[in-house]
Amino acid sequence: MTEPVFEAILPRRQFMATGAAATLGSLFASVGLLDTALAQSVPQSVASGTALQWHNWSGLQHAQPASLPTPGSEADLQALMKATQGEVRAYGSGHSFTALVPTSGAIVSLDRLSGLISVDKQAMTATMHAGTRLGVLSRALDSQGLALRNLPDVDIQTIAGAISTGTHGTGATLPALHADVVGLRIVKSNGQIVELHESKDRDLLAAARVSLGSLGVISQVTMRVLPAYNLHRRVWLRPIAELLQQAPLLADQHRHFELYYLPFTGYGAAISHDIYTGTELSLPKSGDDEAMADLRTLRDWLGRFPQMRTWVAQKFFDVNQVEEARHRSHRLLASVRPMKFNESEWHVPRDQGIACLREIISAIEKHNEAFFPIEFRFIKGDDAWLSPFHGRDSCSIAVHAAADEPYDYLIKDCAPVYRAHQGRPHWGKLHEMGAAELRALYPRWPDFQSIRKQFDPQGRMLNAHLRKLFVQA
Ligand SMILES: Cc1cc2nc3c(=O)[nH]c(=O)nc-3n(C[C@H](O)[C@H](O)[C@H](O)COP(=O)(O)OP(=O)(O)OC[C@H]3O[C@@H](n4cnc5c(N)ncnc54)[C@H](O)[C@@H]3O)c2cc1C
Repeated sequence: MTEPVFEAILPRRQFMATGAAATLGSLFASVGLLDTALAQSVPQSVASGTALQWHNWSGLQHAQPASLPTPGSEADLQALMKATQGEVRAYGSGHSFTALVPTSGAIVSLDRLSGLISVDKQAMTATMHAGTRLGVLSRALDSQGLALRNLPDVDIQTIAGAISTGTHGTGATLPALHADVVGLRIVKSNGQIVELHESKDRDLLAAARVSLGSLGVISQVTMRVLPAYNLHRRVWLRPIAELLQQAPLLADQHRHFELYYLPFTGYGAAISHDIYTGTELSLPKSGDDEAMADLRTLRDWLGRFPQMRTWVAQKFFDVNQVEEARHRSHRLLASVRPMKFNESEWHVPRDQGIACLREIISAIEKHNEAFFPIEFRFIKGDDAWLSPFHGRDSCSIAVHAAADEPYDYLIKDCAPVYRAHQGRPHWGKLHEMGAAELRALYPRWPDFQSIRKQFDPQGRMLNAHLRKLFVQA
């Protein structure tokens, strides 16, 4: 094939034809577009005729709830919980892929309970309404000279939704967000308010930090925070064999390190972020929302010829390009996903991470239809009872499929690999585990279940998915 033919396959120039690293940095993502994302985010709950409808971000999960209340104060929430009969599920921004939210009862949104309530600069903590989106929170903290210790790779989620599923970013020394929670206010299913603080309620807080909305509706969160900081971001492209060898060392050298493997290319993109104390700030080149579409086009044209697909991809990679940017932590760590997808992510002990990733790459590359990058991150262990990082430093491996394409193979083919490496699934991402298997993975499982029953004796906070996770043997 000649280059004009490649241009016909990939007519849009940017992705591979010019420096790959620059576009790979934004492969999934457009940086700094929170306003756009919020403005464009369609409400997850809409009325259709007379039936109320709810759906999640990817469109996979649906519900027709009896009500979709949006209390405007904690007192309203308390009155609502007292007055409501039957199942109640809290809903953040619908960014979970699993069926955590759907119910035919009440789906409660905390969208109107948003914003920073107070900061304590001596204790270095901040208290916020539970419905505050991470991006809104980051900006409010920044205006006070403060920041969260880490962020996941999008910041549309609410703080309560994020901590409830063990949401994490990357960084070998950085735990998931819930590890920084020092206090919570929870409205139980009977309307009673419980206030927890780490100074007096160690066990209850260890249970509540990651609790999938099963203890009640969280109304306020108090988090440990840091002085605001800038980061230096680098993105570079290398053969995956080289990156797999270097990854453990790179994870120890950088505050944040992660890599993306690009299926059927033999190449991975490495991304690091480190504290930056200089004064010259720059954001990455504007995100190329079409980079994912280019990978998809390559798959559409050459999916049946994997070797040719690899050859074409490598032909256009420029391994000498490094993308660099320096800016506020929240402007670089979180971004916006231009293409919708479904996802499964598991967490394995750190010392098994690379071996597990190699096997996942083999499993995914048995499917010519795969084109989404595989994401590999490092997370520090913590002690929350249902934290997927409980008691162990971990690596996370995430696989994706476009929202309008089949995703079953992500679960069917990858789950046995993760299981063989003692993997724990992300609570918010697709998996098929139930109570019997989960119990064996979490040493404090019985303690959590006993606290859950104390908080919600009638099981009104459970929907069908949570009953499968917590109750059915
Ligand atoms: C594009 C995208 C990118 C993502 N990136 C990452 C990432 O980098 N790292 C990562 O770990 N995860 C990531 N996720 C997963 C996501 O962070 C989690 O699924 C998170 O829980 C979503 O938060 P949410 O506010 O949308 O909550 P929802 O999905 O609406 O709810 C999640 C859970 O929280 C509970 N909940 C919500 N609000 C409350 C409340 N007030 N009180 C009690 N319980 C409540 C719900 O009942 C439910 O059990 C990503 C998801 C998407 C779609």
